[in-house]
Amino acid sequence: MQRTPIDETKNLVGKEVNLFGWVNVRRDHGKIIFIDLRDRSGVAQVVFTPSNKDVYELANKLRSEWVVRLKGKVNARPEKMVNLEIPTGKVEIEPLELEILNEAETPPFPIDTDGQEIDEEVRLKYRYLDLRRERLQKNIILRSKFVDLARQFLFKKGFLEIETPILSAPTPEGSRDFVVPSRLNPGKFFALPQSPQQYKQLLMVAGFEKYFQIARCFRDEDLRADRGFEHTQIDLEISFVEQKDVMALDEEMITAVVESMGYKIKQKPFPVFTCQEAITKFGADKFDLRTEEDKKNGVLAYAWVIDFPFFEKEAPPAGGWTFTHNPFSMAKPEHLDWLVKGENIDQILTTQYDLVCNGIEIGGGSIRAHKPEMLEAVFRIMGYSKNDIQKQFGHMLEAFKFGAPPHGGIAHGIERNLMTLLGEDYLREVQAFPQTSSGRTSVMDAPGELSDKQLQELKIKI
Ligand code: ASP
Repeated sequence: MQRTPIDETKNLVGKEVNLFGWVNVRRDHGKIIFIDLRDRSGVAQVVFTPSNKDVYELANKLRSEWVVRLKGKVNARPEKMVNLEIPTGKVEIEPLELEILNEAETPPFPIDTDGQEIDEEVRLKYRYLDLRRERLQKNIILRSKFVDLARQFLFKKGFLEIETPILSAPTPEGSRDFVVPSRLNPGKFFALPQSPQQYKQLLMVAGFEKYFQIARCFRDEDLRADRGFEHTQIDLEISFVEQKDVMALDEEMITAVVESMGYKIKQKPFPVFTCQEAITKFGADKFDLRTEEDKKNGVLAYAWVIDFPFFEKEAPPAGGWTFTHNPFSMAKPEHLDWLVKGENIDQILTTQYDLVCNGIEIGGGSIRAHKPEMLEAVFRIMGYSKNDIQKQFGHMLEAFKFGAPPHGGIAHGIERNLMTLLGEDYLREVQAFPQTSSGRTSVMDAPGELSDKQLQELKIKI
């Protein structure tokens, strides 16, 4: 049985269609029952009259969110019933057959609003219902489109999509690790990746030259509007490039993606600010270049920020040096000598580039250290002993001894990019199943306890 997406009925006057979907709204007008039938593609009005007795009697039972199959004929609406506010507003469906596929209890909250008014815990407990609302359907569909377009762009440019492990050793990105106990190695733990940083660099050593991944990243940090335990990145890495090459390619990708989604970019090529300029001009390294008018028109104001200090002082009591962005970065070529000698540490600039859009940091990357002595110098400045460096990053130092090509890359947080596109203030509005602000999962009850048997197997005592 051929299924017709509901939105297509607008072009099918006079045709018979087979629709599947949910009862969006039911309205009774005297003897006539109007049902707005909804599927992912849209909503159409079905008009039940007592003349078709069997179908009418069944329709009488229908309630919101019941699931039905409906065979019907598409008719043009009478002139005075035309509703230009919805895409199918010039047609209505005359029912021929109705089958109830499933009934539904009354949802715990309205799903025909934008949902902002509902308590977060309740929304996320019933996320599968929350996701039915129009706003979230749109957000999740747009997210899929965004990823699709980025993938198409990268494949066209000769990138390979390569997955990297989730169970792994720590990769520092300035956050805490989520850890997973190993049953086969009692007392030992995997870390979930804060990013695929080290693996993507190893893929460059392996000779793949152009890598990307739609990569899940895990960071155990205090949750905020634009931070979750999990996020997804468009993560890429390229061999034989300089800073300007990665920035140019990335800019081409973002431009191609958002423009084919119909967005307007304020300034092309994207303006570039040094970190110092940004701080002098805007008081921060993230800033919003839009005018009030731009904001109204949904314009996207991208800008690059470069020339960040490589290191900053740790908060007391530690008081040593730590990295500002990415310990695997290369210092600017003119400061490499300082880096390796550990001199003028406060003045060493990194090859890091951040992309900001409408006040949010939506991407960042760098050219990487590709020689052992460069990477070693970074960790030495941060106070790691030779032993610690060897233990934690010996595998990278070793890999770099086997002909590592110069390389660099970037990653874009998909959620933050979507937030700028959609004007959403919270990460959870663009993720299907986000965590609650108290760090618990949507729908399922996690984190949870382990059984005694599991604890025994893992040799863990609580
Ligand atoms: N690994 C970096 C991050 O996750 C991105 C990059 O430098 O490519 O922020």
